[in-house]
Amino acid sequence: MHSTDRIVVDALIVGAGFAGMYMLHKLRAAGIGATVVEAGSGVGGTWYWNRYPGARVDIQSLEYSFGFDEQLEQDWRWSERYAPQAELLRYADHVADRFDLRRDMRFGVRVTAAHWHEAAQRWHVETDVGARYDCRYLILATGCLSIPTDVTFPGIEDFQGPVYRTSRWPHEGVDFAGQRVGIIGTGSSAIQSIPIIAGQAEHLTVFQRTPNYSMPAHNGPIPDEDFQAWASDPRGYRARSRDTGGGFQNEARPDALAMATAPDDIRTELERRWAWGGFRILGAFADSGIDPEANRIVHDFIAEKIRAQVADPEVAALLTPKDHPFGTKRPCVDTGYYATFNRPNVALVDLHAAPITTFNAGGIATTARQHDFDAIVLATGFDAMTGAIDRIDLRGIDGLQIKDHWAEGPRTYLGLMVAGFPNMFTITGPGSPSVLTNMINSIEQHVEWIAQCLAWLGQRQQASIEASAEAEADWCRHVTEAVTPTLLPQANSWYMGANVPGKPRMFMPYAGGLNTYTEICRQVVAKGYEGFVVKNGDAVLSDSRAFTSHPPMPDIPAALLPIIIERLTAAGLMPAAE
Ligand code: NAP
Repeated sequence: MHSTDRIVVDALIVGAGFAGMYMLHKLRAAGIGATVVEAGSGVGGTWYWNRYPGARVDIQSLEYSFGFDEQLEQDWRWSERYAPQAELLRYADHVADRFDLRRDMRFGVRVTAAHWHEAAQRWHVETDVGARYDCRYLILATGCLSIPTDVTFPGIEDFQGPVYRTSRWPHEGVDFAGQRVGIIGTGSSAIQSIPIIAGQAEHLTVFQRTPNYSMPAHNGPIPDEDFQAWASDPRGYRARSRDTGGGFQNEARPDALAMATAPDDIRTELERRWAWGGFRILGAFADSGIDPEANRIVHDFIAEKIRAQVADPEVAALLTPKDHPFGTKRPCVDTGYYATFNRPNVALVDLHAAPITTFNAGGIATTARQHDFDAIVLATGFDAMTGAIDRIDLRGIDGLQIKDHWAEGPRTYLGLMVAGFPNMFTITGPGSPSVLTNMINSIEQHVEWIAQCLAWLGQRQQASIEASAEAEADWCRHVTEAVTPTLLPQANSWYMGANVPGKPRMFMPYAGGLNTYTEICRQVVAKGYEGFVVKNGDAVLSDSRAFTSHPPMPDIPAALLPIIIERLTAAGLMPAAE
């Protein structure tokens, strides 16, 4: 097909979640023509797809909302501390209407291939509906948790009832009244949906392989003091959120060590944070993410809370995490999860003791017995961070395929660009703080960086930009350096790609914190886009290959230095002491 058959745009944005929506808005403001293509039939991304019962955000809504437009911020009122999925989707629709985004969006269109044409310095993009695009810039706003894993079970097609995936929930909803339901998985999606399904169904059986840590949301109306803290100075409030490692306010105490705190004071602090709810407990002690003994203290506290909520001690023991330190898998935030196991119509099956052997017409057989169901729910997770990108036939310079470039794990520069893939940007891509943070603040930071970059390129006769291989290698090393001192690599988490058979093991997000990362990105720009090669055809406009904007060493409490040095040395990231 000739390139004239293609729809020509400056920028093609893939995905109409919060990232794609804001990217479009920002590019329009910069006078850059952009089109969004989206596989779903509406905006909202995560909140469009994940309609399972109980789905709600678990960062406070006051912080999990766009901050780029003051009037939008003033006009929108969240009904609850942690907004439910339907309200988040209404918010996405409201933003799309308010900024008239839909006129440049094409729904029901999935990108299947994108090939870089070096001579033309453009991307040629194919879709599953036949529409073809020719664009200068390709922006992947495809989401970190958008493609479910391919998990399946022998005999699944023989089951006579419906099988639902939490991340592909029917738009019309599901009524479980009077039904026997089985759910597989105990991650965040399951932990949110189990209490609701248990309330509807005649009986619910939860199949658990690995127990997770979950903290109470204490959801409800937004407490007056929280609202006032925000309303008295929304700009300042947002700035403070962004100036944190996680992109949300957590009262993190970088100097407080559990190992140096008296037991009574530890309890007081943990109780206070548990009562506040959500992720606040993560910020209690700086050593809990590094020192196994400090982590154990938090573990023991949560284990005690599980025992206090679950009447049957054996069930409480089964629900208590054993195989990974607290915080090394993404912790969950729940509303009544543990207490659900006190209901007479709920049973917990430990898949370690009795693994699933097969699905069959009646339900699920484990090595111990048959479980009959009317419906089954798979809450089995996502091919995180790379899944949506891997599924596109993406080819850069000389036909380099992303699958090959990422054969040993996703390599990027700043989580924003990939060497060999000019003019292709990833929003909250692997190698950026993304899933370790409040996504919306990370999205805003990325979108603003990319929009600024494209405006800068536009001033240079529409030049092309590419991450240098050297900077990419340097950044990957820094991503490893940032996570190695922590306990995070110790879990078989989806952060590590461990939930997808055959996926390379590599800690994918950047653990150095959103504030640190934002400063690095700012410095990279201030140094004339260091680490990037900028060209116009054959003419090289700038070529600064090295990445030198490493953050200064954070102030680390002295007591933690031996562990950190030991881990960095063992990983070959620090020379061994003589
Ligand atoms: P997940 O955390 O990966 O949990 C998947 C669950 O399915 C795990 O318990 C896993 O067990 C189990 N599982 C997978 N394959 C299985 C198999 N073959 N047999 C038995 N069990 C199996 O997925 P998720 O719950 O969808 O959550 C993913 C992420 O999405 C979260 O960590 C969070 O970042 C995000 N999320 C956020 C929200 C929110 O913000 N409100 C809500 C939901 C999800 P193993 O652990 O043993 O593999």
